[in-house]
Amino acid sequence: MSVINLVVIGYGGMGSYHARELIQEKEGVKVIGVYDIDQTRLDLAKENNFTVYPTLESVLEDKTVEAVLIATPNDSHKELAIKAIKAGKHVVCEKPVMMNTAELEEVMVTAKVEDKIFMVHQNRRWDNDFLIIRDLYKEKQVGELFQIESRVQGANGIPGDWRHLKQHGGGMLLDWGVHLLDQMLFMVDSPLKTVACDLSFVLGDEVDDGFISYLTFENGVKAVVEVGTTNFVKLPRWYVRGFEGAAVIKDWDLSGEIVKQTGTIDHHNLVPIQAGQGLTKTMAPPSEDATTTLDIKEVAADFDSFYHNFYDVVRNNAEPIVKNEEVYRVLCLIETMFEAAEKKEILTFE
Ligand code: NAD
Repeated sequence: MSVINLVVIGYGGMGSYHARELIQEKEGVKVIGVYDIDQTRLDLAKENNFTVYPTLESVLEDKTVEAVLIATPNDSHKELAIKAIKAGKHVVCEKPVMMNTAELEEVMVTAKVEDKIFMVHQNRRWDNDFLIIRDLYKEKQVGELFQIESRVQGANGIPGDWRHLKQHGGGMLLDWGVHLLDQMLFMVDSPLKTVACDLSFVLGDEVDDGFISYLTFENGVKAVVEVGTTNFVKLPRWYVRGFEGAAVIKDWDLSGEIVKQTGTIDHHNLVPIQAGQGLTKTMAPPSEDATTTLDIKEVAADFDSFYHNFYDVVRNNAEPIVKNEEVYRVLCLIETMFEAAEKKEILTFE
């Protein structure tokens, strides 16, 4: 295996995580150095035994560097990607790939002209909670899913510095939003029809601190995608309904339940329950013999790990798991969501 030598550009939270844990020589990719504009981050990289490059030019001029990982604030991705590609490097780029579709088009054209690989790190396609829901969607254990709700909610506000600012591509739609939307579009194999979105500005920042969106697909699936950063009590990570049951996955620890309808519900002989100051048959739980609870089991991805796939794409012309056309579609959706939020309208997705 001829290993791909890679330099990490941006040794902050995510760049150092790639360098420390994600990039594995056994998968064919090796970190041979680090570059950051902040000297304190370079000092830290040195302490962690990485070779440091003093300037971007020194990375780009080094012929032993075959690829770079871009893990800098969002507004710097385009310029760094284009410079690296033009210097003959393959590029792995953190999400959100770019600030908008126009930037991504420019980068995709440059990569094509220079015959270099440009691939985006959509790591949450490998999250187990997502793989379980994707499996439910594909295998129809609770029938065809028609309602999919995907949420992440925290109470710590927007973290860090640049994420608060528009010019750096801050805000939650361009942050967690990218992951949840990428998962949704990767899973639902049907054209997206309509988009509604409400951005949240509870914190008073110039960028959104969360959002709720409603998406409808041509195959009838209705999705809610929500991100919150001011939620002191949170809703489950996933809630889905199929024609034969429903599932909830509460958190990344995969707690939750999958309930499948196995028998007929006798609508005429329902036993009412006491509910508050009244009785209800409608909201009484179904009889025990009408449902069964399925185990929530970890599901392995039916595709390679990210960096192994990157190696195969570069060396063996393999199909990328994360395709640029897919991340482009997510950026189109994000642009439509910003427009829908501003106009307060439900928009058709073109
Ligand atoms: P961060 O602020 O922790 O780190 C960014 C680093 O980039 C800093 O050390 C900064 O000094 C450096 N930097 C800024 N401009 C630079 C430039 N022009 N050249 C070189 N270095 C530069 O931010 P972060 O949380 O690590 O986020 C970085 C990127 O990673 C963002 O695009 C973010 O969306 C993405 N990210 C992805 C995930 C994921 O799960 N895939 C998670 C977190 C962050």
